[in-house]
Amino acid sequence: MADVIRLRHFIDGTWRAASGDRWIPDVNPSDAADIIAHVPEGEASDAHAAVEAAASALESWRVLAGPARAEYLHRWAAVIAARADELARAMAREVGKPIAEARGEVARCVVILRYYAGEAVREVGSVIPAQVPNALQFTLREPLGVVALITPWNFPLAIPLWKAAPALAFGNTVVLKPSEASASMASLLAETAAAAELPPGVFNVVHGTGPTVGTALLRASAVRGISFTGSSAVGAAVAAIAAERNVRYQTEMGGKNVVIVAGDADLDAAAALTASGAMRYAGQKCTATSRVVIAKEVEQDFLARLRAQVEALPLGPVDDPAAAVGPLISERSHASLTRSLAEAAPERLFGGELPHDPRFRRGFYFAPTVIRFESADAPLAQRELFGPVLGTLVADDLDHAIALANRTPYGLSASLFTRDLRTALRYVQRIEAGLVRVNGDTTGVDPHAPFGGFKGSSSGSREQGPAAREFYTEIKTVQINP
Ligand code: NAD
Repeated sequence: MADVIRLRHFIDGTWRAASGDRWIPDVNPSDAADIIAHVPEGEASDAHAAVEAAASALESWRVLAGPARAEYLHRWAAVIAARADELARAMAREVGKPIAEARGEVARCVVILRYYAGEAVREVGSVIPAQVPNALQFTLREPLGVVALITPWNFPLAIPLWKAAPALAFGNTVVLKPSEASASMASLLAETAAAAELPPGVFNVVHGTGPTVGTALLRASAVRGISFTGSSAVGAAVAAIAAERNVRYQTEMGGKNVVIVAGDADLDAAAALTASGAMRYAGQKCTATSRVVIAKEVEQDFLARLRAQVEALPLGPVDDPAAAVGPLISERSHASLTRSLAEAAPERLFGGELPHDPRFRRGFYFAPTVIRFESADAPLAQRELFGPVLGTLVADDLDHAIALANRTPYGLSASLFTRDLRTALRYVQRIEAGLVRVNGDTTGVDPHAPFGGFKGSSSGSREQGPAAREFYTEIKTVQINP
C-alpha cells in the first residue's frame, strides 16, 4: 500500500488529504494485479468543505465577464490538448478504454471546452414588450449557484467536462464527485484545471462513495443544481432527493439501445455499425447497442455478416492502437454478467470464447457474445447488461419492429438501417428514444447537440448544446419603468 499513490481531494485550489483513513483500491481492469491508486472513501465533512469552497468562489466567478470566463475555458482546453497523450494512456489503464477511443475522448474534451468558451460570450436573454408605456422589459440568465456533478467511470473525462464546462461558462461553481472506479482520471482533470489557473474553489473534486459523499453533496443546502449520470437505480434516488429539496436536477441513466435492420437495408453497413456499436469498449457505453431487431426476410444474411464483423473486432490489449474491445471495468461486473447469462441460458448464436492468451485472463475480459432473445420481454432483453452482449429479435414488418424496439423501460438511443425514406420517417416519428439515427451507430453524439433519453433513461432536462444553457441558468425577468 505504501508505494501506491493515495488520492487527495482537490478543494479550493489545493490538494487536501481525506479526513478518514478508509481506502478503495483503484484496479486496472486489464490487469487485476496493477493497483493504480487508493481512493479515499471520503466523509460527509469532505463534501461539505468542497461545497463551502465552491460557495465562497461563487461571488467573484458569477460576476466575472463572459469573455473572462471564456478565456479560462480556452486555457483549460489548451492544457488538456498539451497533455493529451498522457491523459489517454492513463484513461486506457484506469477504465480499460482502448487507446484509440481514449484519444478520441481526450480530443472531444478539448472541443467541449472550446464550445462552451464560445457559449460564455453568446448573447443571452431577450427584450419583451411591456404593458407599461416606455418601460424596458427583458430577461437575464443567471447561474444557479453551486452545482454538484456526480459521474460514472465510463467516460471519465468527457462526462465530468460536458457538465462542468457549461456550468462554469454560465457562472456556476462546481463540486465533482467522480466514480470510485475513475477517481485517478478525475484527479488528473483537477490537475489540468489547476494548470489552467482556474480561480481557487471554482472547480472542486471530492472522492468517495455515492452513499456517503454523494448523498452529502445532494443534501448540502448551498447546492442549487445537480447533474447526475449513472445507473437508473441510483439516478432515481438522486432525483428523489433533488425533488424533495426543490433543486434543479438532471439524471442521465441507462439504456437498452436498439438497431432495426429493415428488409431493404445495406446489410454490410448495418452489420459493421451494429457490431461496432455493440462491442467497442466492451459495450460499456450508455448508448451501446444491446438489441438488434432484424426483418425476417434478411435475418440469415444479416447474421452471417454480423458474425464476420464481430469476429473482426480486435480484443485488447488496450494499449494496442488497433484494439477495439477492452475488458469489463471490474471483477464484480464480470461476475455479474457471467451470472446473468448462465441463469438465463439464452441460445448463443456466436462468440463468447476468449482467445487462449494469458493476458486476457489477468484482467476482466469478456468475449463479445451474440445471443437470440427468447422474446422481447425476456429479462436479458429488458435489463441493461453493460457488457459486450448483443441479443437478436426478428420482426415481421416495420411496425412490428418498432413495437419490439419500444418494448423496454429505457429510451436512450436507436438506429434504423433502411434505404427507404418513408420507412425512415415512420420510424423517426414512432421510436421512443432521445437519440435517433438512420443508417448510423447508436453510440456517439456531437458535443453541441442535445443529449438524453426518453422513459427510464433520463429525467430533468437534456445535456449539451443549447440544452445546457437551459439547465445551468435561471431566467430573471426584469422590468425597468420610466
Ligand atoms: P453508478 O450509478 O453505479 O454510479 C454513478 C455515480 O453515482 C458514481 O459516482 C457513484 O459513486 C454515485 N453514486 C452511487 N450511489 C449513490 C448514491 N446513493 N447517492 C449519490 N451518488 C451515488 O453507475 P456506474 O456504474 O458508474 O456507470 C454505469 C452506468 O452509467 C450505466 O447504467 C450507464 O448506462 C450509465 N451511463 C449513462 C450515461 C448517459 O448519459 N445516459 C452515460 C454514461 C453512463
